Amino acid sequence: MNQAVARLEKYEGIDPEVWSETYETEPQGLKDQPWFKNQVVRFDVDPELWSAEGFLSTLQAVEGQMDRVRDVKNGPRTIDLDIILFGDRVINSGAYLTVPHPRALDRAFVLLPMTDIDPELVFPDGTSVTDALKKIDYRTEGNKIYQD
Ligand code: ADP
Ligand code: MG
Repeated sequence: MNQAVARLEKYEGIDPEVWSETYETEPQGLKDQPWFKNQVVRFDVDPELWSAEGFLSTLQAVEGQMDRVRDVKNGPRTIDLDIILFGDRVINSGAYLTVPHPRALDRAFVLLPMTDIDPELVFPDGTSVTDALKKIDYRTEGNKIYQD
C-alpha cells in the first residue's frame, strides 16, 4: 500500500494528504484465502489536471505496475486501488466508474479507515461515515476487522 501511494505521488497533481491506519480484514465471500490489508488515503487531486475517470485510469496503471492480475472475483490480489469518494461528486460513467463506490456503505473495511481520516466525512447523500458504520454488523479486535 505504501508502494502504491509512492507511485501515485510521482504524478503531477496527485498528492497524498492523510493516511488511515492499516487494518487486517477477514475475507468476505471466499473465506479460504489469506486476510486482506486495507487502508484509505485522502489525496489532493488537481481538478485542472485530472478528471475522476483519468484518476481511475492512473490507479489502474499503478495496479498494473504492481503486477495486479485480474482473475478470481474477490480473490487474492497484490493491490486493489478503488475510488471511494471524489469530493462531493456523484458519477455514473456507465460501467467504468461509479462514485461514491457502490459497496462502500456496506463495508467496515472501507468505513472504519475513513473515520481515521475524518469521522465527520459525509457521502453526497448526507450519510456520515459514522452513521453508516452503525448500520452494519461487524466487530474489531485491535486493527482486525471481522465482517461476514
Ligand atoms: P473490485 O470490485 O474488487 O475493486 P476491480 O478492481 O477488478 O474489482 O474493479 C472492477 C471494475 O470496477 C474496474 O474495471 C473499474 O472500471 C470499475 N469501477 C467502477 N467504479 C469504480 C470505483 N469507484 N473505483 C474503482 N473501480 C471502479
Ligand atoms: Mg478495484
